[in-house]
Amino acid sequence: MNIAIKNILTVLPGETPEAPQTVKKTDLYIQGSRIAAIGEAPADFTAEKTIDGTDKLLIPGLINAHTHSYMAFMRNCADDLSFMDWLFGRIDPIEQKMTDEDAYWGACLAILEMMKSGTTCFNDMQMNIMQTTRAAKESGMRAVISRGLVGSGDDEAGRSRLKQAYAERDAFRDCDRLTFRLGPHAPYTCDEAFLKILAKEAEQENMGIHMHLSESVTEIENCRKDYGCTPIELAERTGLFNRPFIAAHCVQVTDSDMDIMAKHGVSVVTNPASNMKLGNGFAPVPEMMAKGINVCIGTDGAASNNALNLIHEMSLVTLIHKGTHRSPQCVSAEDAFRMATINGAKALSLEAETGSIEVGKKADLAILDLKCPSMWPVNNPIAALSYSATGDEVETVIIDGNITMENKKVLTLDEERIYFETARIMERIG
Ligand SMILES: [Zn+2]
Repeated sequence: MNIAIKNILTVLPGETPEAPQTVKKTDLYIQGSRIAAIGEAPADFTAEKTIDGTDKLLIPGLINAHTHSYMAFMRNCADDLSFMDWLFGRIDPIEQKMTDEDAYWGACLAILEMMKSGTTCFNDMQMNIMQTTRAAKESGMRAVISRGLVGSGDDEAGRSRLKQAYAERDAFRDCDRLTFRLGPHAPYTCDEAFLKILAKEAEQENMGIHMHLSESVTEIENCRKDYGCTPIELAERTGLFNRPFIAAHCVQVTDSDMDIMAKHGVSVVTNPASNMKLGNGFAPVPEMMAKGINVCIGTDGAASNNALNLIHEMSLVTLIHKGTHRSPQCVSAEDAFRMATINGAKALSLEAETGSIEVGKKADLAILDLKCPSMWPVNNPIAALSYSATGDEVETVIIDGNITMENKKVLTLDEERIYFETARIMERIG
């Protein structure tokens, strides 16, 4: 569809990649799935739909760089517990009783929440193949999917999970909004031999990697005991860092770990709410930025966060580090905005397609209402996104040139049905 968005305050990239983003009032034209022009309409352009941008803000759709969508129905059911009690005492037993259909409805609920708070792309690790992928495809979302891989050596179970990952990728080849990565779950659920196999497989299949790394002190201690090195050193020596690599958490890292990640171009996803809620701490984001590491933001799953709202995470990532470093400059609102947009796109090898508002890129956009108490008056919209927005200001979402949410109504999902099904799941297995 040809869409014109008129007279709208728009966040645009600066002159150079390093220059600050700029905000200016302009018109934007969408043809098919892409941004066709900014400012002047393209020749022969006839709008089939025109959106009035008065008192609205247009931003690139946000990118949630680490989540587990299927867990959305587990929100607020395992709180204020230690990491091990949370995982093995509460979450694991629910997962054991979960069906594929449950995972699908969980993913639908997650996508609903993400879309309503301006997310247009998410990076997911899941256990029930086809389900999150099906929900992403139906909802119109852009997604990068990893089947969580667990195994040791060349064991049958690990091999069969890898086969499932390939089967899922092959089943969705027709949808170009979906890409796939290999997802070794963590150093404590995959042994070194299995990680080496996955590094080779990723090379052969030309796939990137999505993995949890260095989340908790226990993980570091056990890794040192088992392998005599940190989880990041382990990932490097197994060859995994030779592939495009997105590392979730990286809370407990040494200076040399950060040098290793910088050397290999590893992207780090910080998940501030989840890491703090589980009492794990948080990633040393300013130090990583100083070393040139690409840092992006994730929510993690709703079982540990318990929300999937990137605007909330942008606020946390700025405030935590300002507070702990006693430096109001160390993570700026501009930094947080980049982490939630273009840095996420880079981490997912999607920077040519999404993450900023530029002619030729996919039209992945969110429109926010500015005429509301949290955003008014319009002094600095980028600061507002980190410091005063709640996510509720998002009115309209466009993904791949399609309007998926309009005036706060999600058009691609049956919202009432999702509430009904997910409540029923928790009545049955919670
Ligand atoms: Zn996770």
